[in-house]
Amino acid sequence: MIFPEWKGSKSIMVILAHPDDPEFFMGATIAEWVKQGHKVSYLLLTKGQRGVSPEYPDPANLDVVRVLEQQNAAAKLGVSKVEFLDYQDGYLVPDLEARKKVAREIRRLRPDIVATCDPLLIYQKGRINHPDHRAAGQIVIDAIFPAVGNPAFFPEQINEGFRQHNVEELWLSLPVEANFEMEVTQHWQLRLDALLEHVSQVGEPAAFLERMETRRKTQWGEQLRYVESFRRLIL
Ligand SMILES: [Zn+2]
Repeated sequence: MIFPEWKGSKSIMVILAHPDDPEFFMGATIAEWVKQGHKVSYLLLTKGQRGVSPEYPDPANLDVVRVLEQQNAAAKLGVSKVEFLDYQDGYLVPDLEARKKVAREIRRLRPDIVATCDPLLIYQKGRINHPDHRAAGQIVIDAIFPAVGNPAFFPEQINEGFRQHNVEELWLSLPVEANFEMEVTQHWQLRLDALLEHVSQVGEPAAFLERMETRRKTQWGEQLRYVESFRRLIL
């Protein structure tokens, strides 16, 4: 197992755009972190209400469904807390207001490690990366530096009682150029189980699992080894 030499239990904050992003991008890594005794929480910037399908055609009610699905999926992986900022799904942009809100959440929760996704990934292997994913990655990166560690940034948060904070490491899922691999074979089934909690998104379970298997085969060939790749920045 390739794993960083972390001493003691770490507080890890996973900040992504949509319900189901944590499980799709890095679910087995989250399971491994929890198993090792680290405390993992999620902050999702939207409630995913535009992820409509024939079974769930109404965007007005989908946010309620997807919040519940996300809580169930997170519980499967042993995640301690799931929170949402309620930006509009599909319309997320890396603006100053979003940076300020995310900086406030990081100053409030004071995680040792933050995980998000790589804002540089626009497309890969015939698939276009959702712009909310890129926006979320950029918002998080911009909040970590230069904002959260510098009391001159968003000083009203300091007046509110939050101190500046330094994050030790930043992990980017869906990396354009990975520099770190998590060997997660033993958690792969748990990741699939957690993904199946996103009932409104995965459709018929057997067909979904078949799709996931096909995708895995294209990525890693026939060998039974599962990895999740990251760009890991030690700050
Ligand atoms: Zn997404």
